[in-house]
Amino acid sequence: MMLETYPMTIGGEVVRNECTLLAKVEDGELMQSSESVRFLILHCSATRRNQDYSVEQLMRDHKKRGFRTIGYHFYIRKDGTITQHRKLLEVGAHCRPYNRCSIGICYEGGLDEHGKPCDTRTEAQTERIIELLYKLHKLFPKAKIVGHHDLPGTTPKACPCLDTHAVFGWIEDL
Ligand SMILES: [Zn+2]
Repeated sequence: MMLETYPMTIGGEVVRNECTLLAKVEDGELMQSSESVRFLILHCSATRRNQDYSVEQLMRDHKKRGFRTIGYHFYIRKDGTITQHRKLLEVGAHCRPYNRCSIGICYEGGLDEHGKPCDTRTEAQTERIIELLYKLHKLFPKAKIVGHHDLPGTTPKACPCLDTHAVFGWIEDL
């Protein structure tokens, strides 16, 4: 059973109350308050379904792009392993210009064997995404569940290669 009140554990982070949400992060920037979170944004790693893209590879690639650490808050491997890379209210680096008002979740995959955009979610990933979105939406009830390419003004691309609101929007009504 999932907890719906504080304290709750999300990824590796135990959230005791809103104050702990706003506790200082080491060298990242924080959003203004939990009211800042207007979007829960799903991404894909844009890697082929038959390719492994580890946390280490993701970290290396994001550091190459000049990010301090992985830009997403959460990363979900094909086997459902989930890792957290930013505190919940830490400003991420995943969806300009929405980084100050969103939490970024990325699933490994998004391309078929030939490199074409494709919804490659595994069952394990789908389960983890649902659990995570459910908890995050309880914490941030005003946030909309969207996919990267649903947001106007972002770089046009297929990410996350599925209709996020059609697949996961029901979680907003729980
Ligand atoms: Zn994306």
